[in-house]
Amino acid sequence: MLQSDPCSTPDLIPFEQALALLLSSATRELNVVSVPLWQALARVTSLAYRSPVDVPNFDNSAMDGFALHVDDIATITPAKSFELIGRSMAGKPFNGQCKQGQCVRIMTGAVIPDECNAVVMQEKATTKSPYELGTQISFDINEVTAGQNIRPKGNDIRQGELLFEAGHRLKSADLGLLASLGLHEIKVFAPLKIAVFSSGDELVLPGTPLTEGKIYDSNRITTIALLSELGFEVIDLGILPDDPDVIAKALQAASLKADVIITSGGVSVGEADYLKETVERLGKLSLWKIAMKPGKPFAFGNIDNCYFLGLPGNPVSSMVTLMQLGLPFLRKLQGQTLSSPKTFSATLHQKIRKSPGRKDFQRAIIQLDNEGEWLAEPLVNQNSGVLSSMSRANGFILLPADSESMDKGAKVKVQLFSDLIDS
Ligand code: AMP
Ligand code: MG
Repeated sequence: MLQSDPCSTPDLIPFEQALALLLSSATRELNVVSVPLWQALARVTSLAYRSPVDVPNFDNSAMDGFALHVDDIATITPAKSFELIGRSMAGKPFNGQCKQGQCVRIMTGAVIPDECNAVVMQEKATTKSPYELGTQISFDINEVTAGQNIRPKGNDIRQGELLFEAGHRLKSADLGLLASLGLHEIKVFAPLKIAVFSSGDELVLPGTPLTEGKIYDSNRITTIALLSELGFEVIDLGILPDDPDVIAKALQAASLKADVIITSGGVSVGEADYLKETVERLGKLSLWKIAMKPGKPFAFGNIDNCYFLGLPGNPVSSMVTLMQLGLPFLRKLQGQTLSSPKTFSATLHQKIRKSPGRKDFQRAIIQLDNEGEWLAEPLVNQNSGVLSSMSRANGFILLPADSESMDKGAKVKVQLFSDLIDS
């Protein structure tokens, strides 16, 4: 007999519908700021970037070796020798003229002399001490092709080539690319200011002793760490007590200085869950209770011009809702062009228990087996309070709302945490 999901009630909003509502609500005029390249990591470009130059901007050597004259390359044999007439070093080009029968010692990245069009690698030189100017050098080869070991001008990027569209979140390689073009001030959208609270009378700060019934606040640090990775400006506002008046004052004050407020806890149906009702009182609640597991109590709304994301208190639910609903919303609000989260198919390594009702995001270790097939091993303890499952797992198994239990060997859709965060 199929067990029905006791937490799935008809008032739950399907996950896809909740996400669509969040995305359609994510509209904001963003200021554009110019930041030094050093501060541009994870920021979102406010305009399309095209290359002002060719990279590299001169033909250069891909090897340490010897540059040969254009007219010598067709006839080279080990019996031929070439007079060494100069050196071209990285940053210090050869200024003379290389004629037929001559060669120039050249280092990786150095300018190819005008008359030359191939580089023979140093290891092919047969002359005993081939570095004295005037020495005759031979090479143990019978063939050299035009352009051999030369990185041509514009080989990496052509002048005018599109690098990124507006709405691109800058990664470390992107910063290197911009640096290679000589760019040092980058136009990006001003980062959203996100106020983060945790809530609950049971919470204390790591570093202080635990008294009876208390637990350490872990949601705030995970939330802040994730938001910081994505380049948002975080305002850490600490722990809210389970006191509706204190909560109301704190949310009101935060709504005046932040673009978004993110809380965790206090959005369920318990007696001390005041966050949802406080937002309803001060502003508007647009979403509450999603057909997802974990993460059902997730809430979304606004207080005046400030958005509100109410994450559930259970640490796994808090992270999963932030990653699956919060991040796409925040990326869009930040001006980033969204790409659909990457998913792929894997084989279940353990059976999965599920009853129809909610979309399930099971934490799993996803890896390639020896045959190169993706395997997904769901962690044994899928309880929403077990944060170690998020730390040990590297991805989600995505189970549609109407799906049921599945046996080992079944195909499932999976998603890596790194793809959700890095995109
Ligand atoms: P709540 O939604 O406030 O009822 O919280 C649900 C569960 O999550 C309770 O067991 C809380 O103690 C726990 N919890 C709430 N907030 C946090 C937090 N910031 N860090 C760790 N656990 C939390
Ligand atoms: Mg609570």
